[in-house]
Amino acid sequence: MAPLELTHLAGNTWYIPAPSNIGLYVRETEVFLIDSGNDKEAGRQINKLITERGWTLRMIVNTHSNADHIGGNAFLQNKTGCSVAATRKEAPFIEYPELEPSFLYGGYPSPAMRNKFLLAKPSRVTDLIEEEGPVPGTPLTALSLPGHFFGMIGVRTPDGVLFTADALFPPSVLRKYHLFFLYDITAQFSTLERLENENAEIFVPGHGEPTGSLASLIAENREKIREILSFVTELCAQGRCFDDLLAETARHFDLTMDPNQYILIGSSLRSYLSCLCATGELEHLAEGGTMIWKRRSL
Ligand SMILES: [Zn+2]
Repeated sequence: MAPLELTHLAGNTWYIPAPSNIGLYVRETEVFLIDSGNDKEAGRQINKLITERGWTLRMIVNTHSNADHIGGNAFLQNKTGCSVAATRKEAPFIEYPELEPSFLYGGYPSPAMRNKFLLAKPSRVTDLIEEEGPVPGTPLTALSLPGHFFGMIGVRTPDGVLFTADALFPPSVLRKYHLFFLYDITAQFSTLERLENENAEIFVPGHGEPTGSLASLIAENREKIREILSFVTELCAQGRCFDDLLAETARHFDLTMDPNQYILIGSSLRSYLSCLCATGELEHLAEGGTMIWKRRSL
C-alpha cells in the first residue's frame, strides 16, 4: 500500500486520499475521523499520521459499515481506545462483520467470500447516532443518505466540507462496474435529489476526488442507474430466471465474476428487480421449480 498522506481541505478539516477516502476534523488536538480506510494497514498509517502531529484520536464516525470504510476500526480502537459512532442500522454490521458477506450472498458465505474486501475485523460501536442531525459530542453533523447501504450517512464539518460516503461513484467506477453496489434503488434516487440541494464548499466522495460541485457526478450516477433499469426491464421481456439474468448482465457489461463481484453484482441486480416490481414494470412468478422474472403485460 502506498504511504498515506494528510491533505488540508479547509479550516480544521483534512482528508487522507486513499482507495476509500478518510476524513479528519481536528478540534485543538482531538481528531474525529470519518471512516477508517480499507484495512489494518490503513489503520496503522492513520494512527502514525495522527500521532506524528501530536494529535489524539477521539472518535471514528463510520458513514456506513462496508469493509472498505471500517477496515481500520479494529486496529485504531485497540491501539487508542477511541470511540466508534455509527447509525443503528449500520452498527450491527460493524460489530458482527460476517453479516456483510452473508447479507450480500444470501446465505452462509463460502471461504472465498470471507476476504478483507467483504469481511472486516469486528470493532465495538460505542455511540449509536441518528441518521440526521448533530453527532453528539462532536462538531459534526450527519445527513441521511440511504440507497447504497441501509443507514448510510454523509458527514458535514463546520468548515463547509461535506463527506458524501458512497452516495456517488466516480465515472471510472460507473464505466467499469456499471452495477455499482446499491441496496435500495428508490432510496438512491431520493438521495441524489437531496444531494442536488445540499450546499458545501467542498464535497468529498468515499471514492474519487474532492470537488466543488456535485452536479455532473449526480447526473452521471442517475443516468447509469436509469440505464440499468431499462436494460433489466428489456432483459425480462421474455421471462427469465435470476441466474440467466445475472449471466446476461455480466456478458453485456463485460463483468468479470470473481466471488466478490458475483455477490456484489448479484445482490445489486436483485435490488433492481425488486425496484422494478415495486414500480409495476416487472412481476415474478413461480414456474417449474424456479422463479421467473418477467415484464408485466399491459
Ligand atoms: Zn466504499
